[in-house]
Amino acid sequence: MKKKKNIAIVAHDNRKKDIIEWVEYNWKELVQHDLICTGTTGKLVEEALAIKCTGENFVPPTVTLLKSGPLGGDQQLGALIVDGQVDILIFFWDPMQPQPHDVDVKALLRITVLYNIPTASNRSTADFIVSSSLFHESYKPILKDYSGYITRDVNIM
Ligand code: PGA
Repeated sequence: MKKKKNIAIVAHDNRKKDIIEWVEYNWKELVQHDLICTGTTGKLVEEALAIKCTGENFVPPTVTLLKSGPLGGDQQLGALIVDGQVDILIFFWDPMQPQPHDVDVKALLRITVLYNIPTASNRSTADFIVSSSLFHESYKPILKDYSGYITRDVNIM
């Protein structure tokens, strides 16, 4: 991943207040990168960053808006990770309430492990990621070699 990163930001409804507080606190770090968000989270992130950037001579970052999570946004994000277009995921999911798209959430979190994507599900981890010296450096994540899985023998007879 390059110095300028593609950072995905997602929050379930009960965590949106938390994510916006985190975005507002870290806006000077975040505006140096490109952001990708699920629909509703993204609109709130855009608004928060526009307010912070106004009058401070900062250009608000590009925020790519995907579909809302329950409408497939988490799956879109998973596909972007598979395509190598997401470097970091900040995903404040709700530990107290089942979601209509729980299976999509689980699939997204699985893909982040498979592709070794730094992932924060809570504010402390997000703070550690944003304050890491690697946050503004290039970095090459080590990917586990799954080629044996693709070429395995499958007996269908
Ligand atoms: P939202 O989706 O940003 O559109 O609310 C988030 C989610 O529920 O995954």
